[in-house]
Amino acid sequence: MRKHSPGSPTIAIIGGGASGLYAAAHAALQARQQARKVSIHIFEKNHGVAKKLAITGSSQCNITHDMAPQEMAEHYYEHNRTMRSILSKYDAYETIGFFISHGLSLTTREDGKVFPSSFHAQDVIQVLTTILEENEVEIHTSSPVSALTYDAGHYILTLHQDKEFTSDALIIATGGFTYPDTGSTGDGYRLAKGLSHTVTPLCLALSPVKVTSSFSPLLSGITLENAVVYAGGKRRGPEALLFTHQGLSGPVILHSSRFMNTQDTIRVSFIDISEQEMYEQIRTICAREGRKQLLTLLLSTALPRRLLEFILTSHGIDGSRKGAEIGKQTLRRISRDLTGMSFEVSLKGMASRAIITSGGISIREIDLSTMESKLYPHLYFCGEVLDLDGETGGYNLQIAWSTSAIAAGHCLATL
Ligand SMILES: Cc1cc2nc3c(=O)[nH]c(=O)nc-3n(C[C@H](O)[C@H](O)[C@H](O)COP(=O)(O)OP(=O)(O)OC[C@H]3O[C@@H](n4cnc5c(N)ncnc54)[C@H](O)[C@@H]3O)c2cc1C
Repeated sequence: MRKHSPGSPTIAIIGGGASGLYAAAHAALQARQQARKVSIHIFEKNHGVAKKLAITGSSQCNITHDMAPQEMAEHYYEHNRTMRSILSKYDAYETIGFFISHGLSLTTREDGKVFPSSFHAQDVIQVLTTILEENEVEIHTSSPVSALTYDAGHYILTLHQDKEFTSDALIIATGGFTYPDTGSTGDGYRLAKGLSHTVTPLCLALSPVKVTSSFSPLLSGITLENAVVYAGGKRRGPEALLFTHQGLSGPVILHSSRFMNTQDTIRVSFIDISEQEMYEQIRTICAREGRKQLLTLLLSTALPRRLLEFILTSHGIDGSRKGAEIGKQTLRRISRDLTGMSFEVSLKGMASRAIITSGGISIREIDLSTMESKLYPHLYFCGEVLDLDGETGGYNLQIAWSTSAIAAGHCLATL
């Protein structure tokens, strides 16, 4: 397949996920508005498009967060400044406006998360694919792009059976390397490296973790609402924490995971108070109601019985002993565990469950006002393939929407 006609420019988009579809929709709508003939082609390796988008937000799709750009940028860790710049060009309100103007009813929850009112991710996909269909965007499914070259102003994509496709502009929207069953297997990094782009170190983000030490399956299923995690020099929480059969999950772990490495020791406080405050609290209660059993007294902290039993057992403390009989040293050990229990963690094998890839195409080599490569003309990157990631709450899809809308706009304007 070799297509290129001088009269009508050709845009190739690698990846039919959130950012690839959004880029194509924006480019196609803009071309129609300008009454221009532009040939737009999406190459998607899967049998169908948007496999990952379909499972976002437990298939309900948390599209974005109803939030002003300045405030929203705070939810992207060290990418705060970069995202402020990107969101100043295309923000969450524009995303919301786009979907509503194309007939998708949206609902904003009290916490600010925006969903399709049907709570069906498929409806989001339907809106995008309808725009593409109506504007004759060609979607080539089962079409993995295996190689890429640039030659005299054109991009040459190698497809299956060594077929080639030539385009005037190229948008790389191949996603990250996590949840590879959805097709995002990190191909974009290899393709970009082939064009001398830098890929920053890749790691898992928004991931549950395995625990390789001091862990008992007895804890599995316990949920804590206000846990605090200390990992990689960062404090995160209070947020919910969940003990799984292998380790730890829940928002506080997902948000901390990008600061963890395998074999790191993290500390978890099961309650948002200091060790000293905890000690004072349980010492006072043991003194005041010393006739009651220690376990009964500890339950006044509102921490789950199974967790308290686990901690007492691990220190060889009999929870049925009277509070008044428990020495200060023992109370200190209990306080220490409740407010800073150590766990050695592992992220091995977790790529299949990590929601996001942290790291990617270096932002330094991208013009943020256009999302165009600084190394090649008419080469754009958008979505998760970039070295950008955010917290849960619609912030990651907003990266995809913003970067792809900006890329498509500039691409159309300069072709
Ligand atoms: C379980 C889960 C739930 C999530 N929920 C939310 C949520 O509710 N809200 C939110 O904001 N974010 C959520 N995210 C994150 C969100 O899904 C991503 O940020 C978003 O999908 C990134 O879009 P993308 O287009 O850049 O990449 P992707 O959606 O990964 O799309 C990349 C596409 O490129 C294709 N591709 C890759 N390589 C090639 C190749 N060589 N040739 C052709 N095609 C190729 C892939 O098959 C894929 O279809 C969730 C993620 C997961 C895993």
